[in-house]
Amino acid sequence: MSTEVQSGFGCRVCGERHVLSLSYSVKAPMAAAAIPVEELDQRVVITPDQCVIDGRDFYLRGRILVPVIGLEEPFVWGIWAEVSPKSFVRTNELWTVEGREQEAAFPGWLNTQLPVFGDTYNLEVSVQTQPVGQRPQFRVVDQDHPLAVEQRDGITMERVEAIAEMMLHPVLQNGRPARTAVTS
Ligand SMILES: [Zn+2]
Repeated sequence: MSTEVQSGFGCRVCGERHVLSLSYSVKAPMAAAAIPVEELDQRVVITPDQCVIDGRDFYLRGRILVPVIGLEEPFVWGIWAEVSPKSFVRTNELWTVEGREQEAAFPGWLNTQLPVFGDTYNLEVSVQTQPVGQRPQFRVVDQDHPLAVEQRDGITMERVEAIAEMMLHPVLQNGRPARTAVTS
C-alpha cells in the first residue's frame, strides 16, 4: 500500500486528518434495509454474499473495481445487485465449481445507492463470475455513466480523497441526512 494511503489525508470538509480508504462496502441490499426490523427474520435470508427477500427477490454482493492511477491495487465498491431467479440459481450451482469464472456474464441491477454518483438504484450492470472464493465483479453497462467512466479510465488519488470526503460527510438531501449505510 502506498505511503499516501497509509498516512491519510487532510479533509477539506472538516479539516481533520482521515485514514484514506480504498474500499467501501454495504452489508445488505437497499431492499433488505427497507424492511421493518420485526419482519426481517420472516422475510429475509442474508449471508455476506447473497440475499433473498420473500423467497422471490434475489441479490448478489459484488465488486466494482476502479483502477487508481499510480497504485497497483484498485479502489473497490462492495455493493449489491438484484439478479434474475435463473441467474441466482445458476450462481449457486457453480458456487464451489472450479473454473466457474468461464461462465458468461449475466445482467444485474444495482440495489445500492452511491450518492457520489447520484441515483444508482437499478443501474444495470454486467455480472462476471470470479474464481471460487471471490465475489463477482460488476461492470456498469451504460458506458457514459460517470461510474462506468471511472471504472474504465481509472481515478486519481485526488479523486479517492474527494470520494472519502463525500462518504464521511454525506450531503444533506432534502434537508435530511443521506441514508447510506456504506462503511469502509
Ligand atoms: Zn472530514
